[in-house]
Amino acid sequence: MSNPRLVLVTGASRGIGRAIAIELGRRGFMVVLNYRQDSAAAAEATAAVEATGALAAAIRADASDPAAVATMFAEIDKLGPLAALVCNAGITRDTLLGASTQDDFASVISTNLLGVVACCREASRRMVSRRAGTIVTLSSVAAQRPGRGQSNYAASKGAVEAFTRSLAVELAPRSIRVNCVAPGIIDTAMTAELQAIAPDELRKRILMGRLGRPDEVAKVVAFLCSDDASYVTGQVWNVDGGFKLE
Ligand code: NDP
Repeated sequence: MSNPRLVLVTGASRGIGRAIAIELGRRGFMVVLNYRQDSAAAAEATAAVEATGALAAAIRADASDPAAVATMFAEIDKLGPLAALVCNAGITRDTLLGASTQDDFASVISTNLLGVVACCREASRRMVSRRAGTIVTLSSVAAQRPGRGQSNYAASKGAVEAFTRSLAVELAPRSIRVNCVAPGIIDTAMTAELQAIAPDELRKRILMGRLGRPDEVAKVVAFLCSDDASYVTGQVWNVDGGFKLE
């Protein structure tokens, strides 16, 4: 049997990232779990991945800081070759543009786009030399159907989708696949406020009439990371229960 494949999941201390880490662990990957600051959540997520027998390491690093990302990848190099990268870390700072500051916008772009760029750069350098690997980025339904106050978030996720397609073009000749998953409204801390303000309105916009669960996103990400998706690259997969504009 071949050695387990190593995967890095950014922002894996809770929510969708945590579910992705667990799902990939169940499917035979060895998981490097990244988080930024929430040590209590990270410890709990680390224990959950460990319970699947699939924990390679938990690394605290700000995925939006290129120097921290470089250090994290140097740590990962000691564990073995990276087979897969899941760029999940993301934030929201929803504000109407007129009421927002340039810093609000920059912080969202910095984490959601530039963080993805930094991680993909480090991963692709390593994968190119081995001519093997797969990358999955996380966008959002907001890239195509933004809500009010989401201009910064929608811009960041739209850019992630374009970046993903571009990277797929660059890396396909080296046998590296790059795909994106765009979740709809998923039941995590990120949407807690939204759920509290307008739960019925939210459900009305979803054909399936309910929010998604993190594990439902994780299964699609895990599929894209697997050899079952060996002929899939440059795609954005919506996992949104049928999200409607109105
Ligand atoms: P959560 O807010 O629940 O979790 C976000 C995770 O990202 C946390 O583990 C957080 O760790 C981590 N994180 C944030 N910034 C950084 C950073 N700079 N470096 C490293 N880790 C970081 O979010 P979700 O699980 O809901 O979302 C996960 C991804 O899915 C995001 O990219 C989000 O945009 C996307 N998404 C989510 C949707 C939803 O409905 N929930 C819908 C569409 C897309 P810490 O707390 O330590 O900072």
